[in-house]
Formats: sequence, C-alpha cells, structure tokens
Amino acid sequence: MRIDVRELEIGALILTGEIPAAGLKLDSSEVRVLGQIVVKLRAEKQAREIRVRGRFAVDVELPCARCLDPVKAPILTEFDQFYQSNKAHHLTGEIELREKDTEVAFFNGDFIEVSDIVREQILLGLPMKPVCREDCKGLCPYCGKNRNVEACNCHSVFVDSRLAPLLQVRNRMKF
Ligand SMILES: [Zn+2]
Ligand SMILES: [Zn+2]
Repeated sequence: MRIDVRELEIGALILTGEIPAAGLKLDSSEVRVLGQIVVKLRAEKQAREIRVRGRFAVDVELPCARCLDPVKAPILTEFDQFYQSNKAHHLTGEIELREKDTEVAFFNGDFIEVSDIVREQILLGLPMKPVCREDCKGLCPYCGKNRNVEACNCHSVFVDSRLAPLLQVRNRMKF
C-alpha cells in the first residue's frame, strides 16, 4: 500500500488497507506482529508538504526485559506526519533546516510507502521495558535459568559468601 503523491494534486486521498507484517522488515527476535494491520489514512497536499494522518491498532509480541518470555503488547496509534520530496530539497537547499524538525519526513520519487509509516509507529509504540508480569524474577545472571520456572542456588551462594564475614562478627559478639 502506498500513496501516489501525484494524485494529491487533484485532492485529498483517503485510503484503507492491510499492511502485511512481512513487509515491515521488523526483526522477529525483537518484535512479532500478531494479527492484521489495517491502516486508515488521509493524505493531502499542504503547500509544498504532504500531510498524512491516520491510525491503526495491532497486538505485538516482544521478549520480557527480564526473562525473555514473550510478552503481548497492544499498539494503538494515531499519526500525523508531514512529508517533503527529497527532490524538492535538493533544489531549495532547505534540507539543513528541515531535517532538525522531526515532524517532517522525506520520500523519494512519487510514492510514500505506508509500510514505512507503520514500521516507525510500531517501533515508537513499543514499551521500553516490557515485563511478562510485575513480579517476574528474570533469568539468573550466574547460571541463566529462568527463575520464574526453577529456583537455582546461585543467589543464596552469592549472598552467603558476602555475608560470611558479617556472620563471623555477629557470632563473635554473641560469645
Ligand atoms: Zn519475565
Ligand atoms: Zn542461578
């Protein structure tokens, strides 16, 4: 699905379409799209810029920040993005000024790829530290076992060795 910028000379364009997850080029070890992505958008020309507004909702799955088990997260996003043609930039030399403005993106040729918008919006919408549950115990940093599933002895050994001198002191004070 893409926006034909030439059509915007005539008037605004309203598009609805499904974006195949495979076309998003997301790293599947980092984020997996669950289900269909149906995007609704409106594109229009505003002076020399193209304004694209739209929305979509989809569930994604990503690894828990602590134990790496998959965590499901809903992405519900509304976007409002301005575009300028790369071609126009070369002519006007305004690129330095506009690139600092994060609201403006660039497109090549006559098309804006909707999958690029969706990809960016999904990445922006991902939780920073997703956890499978609030009390996720995570992986043991010593042996790598998932501590939600199986207890290991690494932690107690570690604590014991650190506490040993303290315990000696306490024992001495007692006797
Ligand atoms: Zn977890
Ligand atoms: Zn361990």
